[in-house]
Amino acid sequence: MSLRPNPLSTLTRVEVAIVGAGFAGIGAAIALRRAGREDFIVLERAASVGGTWRDNTYPGVACDVPSHLYGFASHPNPSWSGTFARGDEIRSYLEDVVDAEGLRGRLRLGAAMQWADWDAEHEVWRIGTATGSVVADALVLACGRLTEPSIPDVPGLETFPGPLFHSARWDHSADLTGLRVGVVGSGASAVQIVPRLARAAAHVTLVQRSPAWIVPRGGAQYTAAERERLAARPDELERLRADLYAEGEARFASRSGDAAAAARATAEALAHLETQVGDPALRAALTPDYAFGCKRVLLSDDFYPAVASDAVTLVPTALAAVEGSTLIAADGTRHEVDALVLATGFASTQQPYAELVVGEGGQRLAAHWSGGMTSFASTVVAGFPNLFVLNGPNASLGHSSSVLMIEEQAAYVARVLDGRSVAGGVLRVDPAAEHAYTGEIAAVAASTPWMTGGCRNWYVDERSGRLTLLWPGTVDAFRARLARADGSEFLPGPVPLPVPSAQSAPLEGVA
Ligand SMILES: Cc1cc2nc3c(=O)[nH]c(=O)nc-3n(C[C@H](O)[C@H](O)[C@H](O)COP(=O)(O)OP(=O)(O)OC[C@H]3O[C@@H](n4cnc5c(N)ncnc54)[C@H](O)[C@@H]3O)c2cc1C
Repeated sequence: MSLRPNPLSTLTRVEVAIVGAGFAGIGAAIALRRAGREDFIVLERAASVGGTWRDNTYPGVACDVPSHLYGFASHPNPSWSGTFARGDEIRSYLEDVVDAEGLRGRLRLGAAMQWADWDAEHEVWRIGTATGSVVADALVLACGRLTEPSIPDVPGLETFPGPLFHSARWDHSADLTGLRVGVVGSGASAVQIVPRLARAAAHVTLVQRSPAWIVPRGGAQYTAAERERLAARPDELERLRADLYAEGEARFASRSGDAAAAARATAEALAHLETQVGDPALRAALTPDYAFGCKRVLLSDDFYPAVASDAVTLVPTALAAVEGSTLIAADGTRHEVDALVLATGFASTQQPYAELVVGEGGQRLAAHWSGGMTSFASTVVAGFPNLFVLNGPNASLGHSSSVLMIEEQAAYVARVLDGRSVAGGVLRVDPAAEHAYTGEIAAVAASTPWMTGGCRNWYVDERSGRLTLLWPGTVDAFRARLARADGSEFLPGPVPLPVPSAQSAPLEGVA
């Protein structure tokens, strides 16, 4: 989709500005609409919606949560091609949802939020974008958490002469057919990429710092008849989603350290490895030395066979340096490659958007989060009035669909905004509520494999050692926790001053 002419000329005044048009931003827009709010816009820096599913176009990209759970409850999709939809299907789905909800006119594409300041005098957010300014009563940050590629700090990487790119910025102009390709990383993206590359490239060298726990993926393509039946039977579609939801919730036990469930899941993963990889030395190199669930558990039926084939060499250690086209591993081995793919994940604990947002007393969100993200309800933050963060602090899941969490958060946003409308004033989180919520999370997380499992994972903030990305419970538990939020998390505040009109209040510093 091409970039639309942007109607944000100088200053736009809205009740709610949503930043980001992935699942979270679109989910927030749907929730506001359903709550009867029409005065909002969605600012998106890219030229189209989709977030993760617009940016990740690598070979084999697909969801690893069943498609019928990985979508909005309000927009069931009988047309998914299979159990795990391809990335391009998910992107089209989000485009379709935008159309079905009539949100096209709310989108401001190519409008990156460059800064957002809380105007204490008028009690509004002032937001600078690439194409104009916005004044909003409330700001919803839906900027994602697996959005900014993490580029490893490897000496000599810049000397690599061939195609070199991150998995989330796949360079489709680089034809890797018949080349020797290095892949750095063995996480969720790599297990999808490597089997595809192994078929097309002359050879794949997989540099693996630490292996993942991998369980069978299963799943199948839906036949046309199955899709037609689901389309004709919304009750069946709903039942399917409910079943998948229950399966997901049941999976939580094995991921969170329940001894019996983790033992069963570990045995399943080891049996999967043993069935698919004959060579004991290779099996040993692919066997994690940390607890099941500590890192995201991956689903794949074709990764191990690819790694065990002649098409792939596994380098079971970190990448230490690059010298021209030579990869030098930490074990001293050297590997010649023509192209290099960094499947090295994302900068997840320290989000760039936090650098852009300044709250009460001139405090930057990144400074408030200097010891790792904190919040109340995983959504609101002390010192940042009328601000909501979706899919940010403690809102990820290791066992089920992120969209479920996003929907709960979006419903909470709509609910507390309703409360604000009734009571007037500004939603200021009581720091004690944030402190208590952060403590609750820490207490629940303390004995889980995410904290004690002996791995380095992206759920934990490296600065404080706190679990800051993952919600350490089931989706049911998150819903119940948010239901207990009765408004007492907000401080009573003064009545806001009238906001100057758009004509009389041009903002400085914005084109
Ligand atoms: C390869 C991959 C596979 C995944 N598979 C699954 C899966 O199977 N199941 C699952 O539950 N989760 C999965 N995830 C996690 C996935 O990120 C979430 O499920 C979900 O898509 C996140 O949606 P989001 O809207 O929060 O973030 P995003 O999709 O990242 O969207 C954020 C949007 O904000 C925009 N933005 C950021 N900063 C600014 C700014 N300053 N101004 C304007 N716009 C801005 C970005 O351009 C982007 O469009 C996967 C992630 C990846 C990377």
